[in-house]
Amino acid sequence: MKAFLFDASICNGCYGCQIACKDEHCEQAWEGYTAAQPMTGQFWGKITEREMGKTPFVHVNYKFEACGNCDDCKLLELAEDGAVYRRDDGIIIIDPVKAKGQEQLRGVCDKVFWNDAEQVAQKCTGCAHLLDDGWDVPRCVDWCPTGALQFGEESELDLEGAVPAEPGSHLYYKNLPGRRICGTVADREINEVIIGAKVTITDAEGNEVAVIDTDDFGDFMFKDAAEGEFDVKIEADGYQPMDYHVSTVENDAVIGQVIVTK
Ligand code: SF4
Ligand code: SF4
Repeated sequence: MKAFLFDASICNGCYGCQIACKDEHCEQAWEGYTAAQPMTGQFWGKITEREMGKTPFVHVNYKFEACGNCDDCKLLELAEDGAVYRRDDGIIIIDPVKAKGQEQLRGVCDKVFWNDAEQVAQKCTGCAHLLDDGWDVPRCVDWCPTGALQFGEESELDLEGAVPAEPGSHLYYKNLPGRRICGTVADREINEVIIGAKVTITDAEGNEVAVIDTDDFGDFMFKDAAEGEFDVKIEADGYQPMDYHVSTVENDAVIGQVIVTK
């Protein structure tokens, strides 16, 4: 069974994988594998980008999205006349000739697109035409300059700590960033940041999830928060403690400047 592994910690957001997919498939049919991908409107392999936090604690999360050849693929259930099949290597192929006009395949999943001109459903093919031609990996993976996107036998990929993109998917994600809780502690009276202030983060159940110190710039950042509600206590020698309640449900929790007083 072939699988994809995307390691978010080493993706630099170059979009090369997405462009390589377009280069391989736009206006280029691969007989027996797929009709050509239209020039616009379809992304078989797609990088999604989300800006998180706010100034000065901003970062961008990237994620690769594509068909994960799921165990319970609806295409296989709905297709007629053997128009969709799973290969021995696990890749699901929509036969571009047999599937023509099979409108029941339209929109079965957000990784499946409908080609109006050809009247056929389309999706990532795993670049099966290349694999059958001796390539070890598809075009998108071959392009990736950082190794963030990998492809291979599922049993041979390093999936420790990885999670499937969705239940039953054979696209796995690793090192997806957690939510951040961050800020800067300062004393405005003396116009100095506070180095070594203690920041204690407690979850909604009252469990202490992190204790960190502010750095040489007075900054603190906890990078691995879950999506939820947290209490943040800031303590510095000689200063009044400060308490905050923050939420990471929608976004990172950027407390901003914490002005402490004596
Ligand atoms: S495997 Fe091929 S078809 Fe699928 S996203 Fe990568 S380049 Fe596109
Ligand atoms: S090619 Fe690799 S590094 Fe570039 S966006 Fe895609 S996964 Fe990330």
